[in-house]
Amino acid sequence: MRFDTVIMVDWSGGNDRGASPKPDAIWAAIAREGRAQEAQYLRNRQVAEDWIGTQIEAERAAGRRVLVGFDFPFGYPEGFAQALTGNASPFAVWDWFETHVEDAAKANNRFDLAGRINTISDGSGPFWGNGLARDIEGLPRTKKDYHNPFPDRRQAELHAKGAFTCWQMSGAGAVGSQVFMGLPVLARLRRRFEASVWPFEPLTSDIAIIEIWPSLTLGAAPEGRIKDAWQVEEVARTVSSLTPEKLAEMLAVDAPEEGWIFGLGHEAYLKQAAAQPPRLSNNCFALPPGVHWTPVAEALAELENRLVPVAEVTELPVLEAVGRVAALDLIAQRSNPPLPNTAVDGYGFAGGRGAGVHRMPLAQDRAAAGDVPVTLPEGQAIRVLTGAALPVGVDTVVLQEDVTAQDGQIAFRGPIKQGANTRKAGEDVVAQGIAVAAGTRIEAPEVALLCATGVARVKVYKPLRVAIVSTGAELVEIGGAAGDGQIFDANRPMLMQMVRSFGHTPVDMGIVPDDRAHLAQVLDDAATRADVILTSGGASAGDEDHVSALLTQAGAMSLWRIAVKPGRPLALGMWRGRPVFGLPGNPVAAMVCTLIFARPAMARLGGEDWPVPQGFDVPAAFSKNKKQGRSEFLRARIRDGRAEVFASEGSGRISGLSWAEGLVELPQEAATIAPGTPVRYIPFGSFGL
Ligand code: AMP
Ligand code: MG
Repeated sequence: MRFDTVIMVDWSGGNDRGASPKPDAIWAAIAREGRAQEAQYLRNRQVAEDWIGTQIEAERAAGRRVLVGFDFPFGYPEGFAQALTGNASPFAVWDWFETHVEDAAKANNRFDLAGRINTISDGSGPFWGNGLARDIEGLPRTKKDYHNPFPDRRQAELHAKGAFTCWQMSGAGAVGSQVFMGLPVLARLRRRFEASVWPFEPLTSDIAIIEIWPSLTLGAAPEGRIKDAWQVEEVARTVSSLTPEKLAEMLAVDAPEEGWIFGLGHEAYLKQAAAQPPRLSNNCFALPPGVHWTPVAEALAELENRLVPVAEVTELPVLEAVGRVAALDLIAQRSNPPLPNTAVDGYGFAGGRGAGVHRMPLAQDRAAAGDVPVTLPEGQAIRVLTGAALPVGVDTVVLQEDVTAQDGQIAFRGPIKQGANTRKAGEDVVAQGIAVAAGTRIEAPEVALLCATGVARVKVYKPLRVAIVSTGAELVEIGGAAGDGQIFDANRPMLMQMVRSFGHTPVDMGIVPDDRAHLAQVLDDAATRADVILTSGGASAGDEDHVSALLTQAGAMSLWRIAVKPGRPLALGMWRGRPVFGLPGNPVAAMVCTLIFARPAMARLGGEDWPVPQGFDVPAAFSKNKKQGRSEFLRARIRDGRAEVFASEGSGRISGLSWAEGLVELPQEAATIAPGTPVRYIPFGSFGL
């Protein structure tokens, strides 16, 4: 059961909510391939019906199948349809409401209609609740005089904890009005688009309508977000990320009269699916048409914008999380320091002191690190040792070297400021504040911080799995024999080590000769075993450039012509949902392209903040006339405070990579460089090597 586009709607039975976005209005969100667009505020039902119709129209015109969800019951409990319309079909009820509901932006007849329907019984039910000031005959205001001839709940609602009945017409959270004011819209959409409605009919149409209830799996919205807006985005994103098989399984429900709530019985799966990061779309590397040579900075900005974390999230004890990336802001469970304490060995007392000599009686007690704070009698001083929590009544400490202690008394010379030599509680980190921000890689300093702030377990991304493929008929594995015309594969071992240095997990996919079918098989395999694929060789547009040929065939490739040397075009594409970086075959170009482009991209895919390598401006020790209009990266090192560059710029010279300790980056506009001209030097360490 495959849908290309998911539109989720949070409905409302109330009146127009005004021009600016508000809670408890109608909100809708569109998602494709597991990525939602920002929710849309729809001020009233007329605007909403219009907007939804327009979206469906556009999707249909683009040949896409659409799944539309609404968050109110599509049917009433058993028996109601028959009693109201003489027909047990829920669509008879839809038609009945379409005929009888009068709806305008500022007024509608829903309460009168509820009163009128109640005449099918003795006038005391099934509907109750009146949001109007005037009384309505036959519509009880409360449940006191209420009698319901039908079941109170649908079968689905018996399983959905916290769901309201469809009979309640007013009050916070009531859904009765939403159904009245929603069914006519559903009836029209169904007719207009010949849509299939779940679970009443098979979903054979390209437009399907389902009942949802976001609160089934979603709790409170993140701070600062309107709940309805956030919920529809989340539901749309999650539903559109489901595999066709899983979706079919969830839609396999038999409830021909009452309807059902999508996902009921699959809550755990949906929650887990919602926690998965969004997937990349197939066209995520598409470049705007007409672009020829993209400047490096622009290419990087494009990558940063398009890529999202794809690594899975897991929870680990903090000590096992070293080297992993925080998937959420990690919150301090405790302040650091948890209590005010002393920064030195000395004597503590209350308040600062002016100039001159001060004497104070010394308390018997002593405060050492780990002691529970005692209470110090007024006017006394107490011996304190570094790290001790300050006794109650102490806020200032004088250094022991500045004090004479004799006969149960201390003496020292002022002035001394109140608070001297102490640390305030939480002066470093406050409990419930962010200890380590999402996107940070947890290394030794972060481990210290997390431990100090009482964080024992952390949500982190699993390491990004990076498949590495070498392509080329000339390549042989080191350790084997290289015949005439053959060379040893240098890129794959280099890339494996680079990927390891970046903190990811390399997956060795071996060497693939220049054979398209074979390469396709290896890419298939790589897509199941890794989150991202790095290939080297065969990335240009020649006869034997099978990487770019295959990605192009798959309809998901973009040749990024980046204005950079070294570096041939970079083939960026998607293979079975995995991003592929088609690196040039030349080892020097492969390494530089990896450092400049693939490294930040992989960091982002792995959940890390976009890394910007730290460079330093240093005087050049070389001369060069550089072509304008492209950036250049030269193999370089620092000697005597000046940047030397490797004698040859030939991109086959692997010895230059080993000679170098970093890169000099010459920007697009740089022209003539003479000894002493400042140039930007980026040590390999800044790239994580
Ligand atoms: P290609 O991009 O496939 O046209 O390769 C460009 C150059 O890089 C050719 O000279 C290849 O022989 C060389 N090359 C490609 N892959 C590797 C590799 N894995 N190790 C060493 N050299 C390679
Ligand atoms: Mg080749």
